[in-house]
Amino acid sequence: MSSKRAIRRRECTGKQRFDNQKAAQAAIGRLRRNTGTTAWLSAYRCKWCGGFHFGHSPKGVRLARGAWA
Ligand SMILES: [Zn+2]
Repeated sequence: MSSKRAIRRRECTGKQRFDNQKAAQAAIGRLRRNTGTTAWLSAYRCKWCGGFHFGHSPKGVRLARGAWA
């Protein structure tokens, strides 16, 4: 069982934080160019800090694009 703190650590703490989705998407683009990664990375709004992070489409995290109203 994951504590809330453990979840926050995985989804928020220690990750790069962006002010908006565009900035997060731009960072993904840079990462792709720099590393040539083909991993599926997605930007998502963080429910913990209200900022944006990106990651490997974690389970249970809605994709940022169109995920909120
Ligand atoms: Zn966060």
